Amino acid sequence: MFASISVDLDEIPCYSAIHGLEPPTDGSAHAVYERGVARFESWLRQLDARATFFAIGRDLDHAPARDAIARLHGAGHEIGNHTFHHRYDFTRRSAESQGDDIRRGADAIEHACGERPVGFRAPGYTIVDATFEQLTAQGYEYDSSVFPCPPYYAAKAAAIASIAARGRRSHSIVDDPRVLTAPADPYRVGTPYHRRGDGMLELPIGVTGLASARLPFIGTTVAMAGERGARWLARAMGRRPLVNLELHGIDLLDAEADGLAWLKPYQPDLKRAGQAKLAALNSAVTVLLETGYTLVTLHEAAHRLE
Ligand SMILES: [Zn+2]
Repeated sequence: MFASISVDLDEIPCYSAIHGLEPPTDGSAHAVYERGVARFESWLRQLDARATFFAIGRDLDHAPARDAIARLHGAGHEIGNHTFHHRYDFTRRSAESQGDDIRRGADAIEHACGERPVGFRAPGYTIVDATFEQLTAQGYEYDSSVFPCPPYYAAKAAAIASIAARGRRSHSIVDDPRVLTAPADPYRVGTPYHRRGDGMLELPIGVTGLASARLPFIGTTVAMAGERGARWLARAMGRRPLVNLELHGIDLLDAEADGLAWLKPYQPDLKRAGQAKLAALNSAVTVLLETGYTLVTLHEAAHRLE
């Protein structure tokens, strides 16, 4: 049984866009790469584990971000592609535009660390058949974007509506609800991608094994659950071929210490201290290790699951 920690390195302006706010102009604009990444590195060193970091290509125009990617890669972590632009309407664009966004993202990663990514994660957990066609054509080994989680889907739709009700426009979108019927364990995609077939390997993002609920097992919910709640969620994952724990760089940021007090009213996870969130994430991973899971990168999981 394998477990993978993956970290989407969405930089702070992504969160401004989700909440319909102006992007920051101060140092907090780079808090994920300049403050968060080092905390993940030290936590992963303590766990003696390699993880997968999904980078957005355009963030790597900034030299400290490129250095961080090179450092992570040098330490044995996998760097995956999270597109160049991280457009929230990525899946509504043409196949050609998607293919270009994927290729430019890979170019930026290769430029930063010398290796082209083989794994992909779409922005905002939304993907379409055309994306899989582009990934296959560009030689990817796996995708990890499908999130078959009804409670998350409902919460996201409600959040977008509530942001609109307050007169702001979220750049976030929800996709085809049929994604909720996708398998929760690794599978080869068919057409449509939420059915099984013989296409690309999909490593779905973690949901608990309780068939009726499929609660989200991701950074935000685990960190917000506190240490006891995090242990409960990790136990609810049961025994699976792969537990795919998807985190975000912001998960280890602290509103006060990292200059993000301005974002706190909009971003509930910033109401918890960085240390408390780390403690909760660590509790969840400790339960996984006690259950017998081995921590590997998503790339390695993809190989071992073949
Ligand atoms: Zn993202």
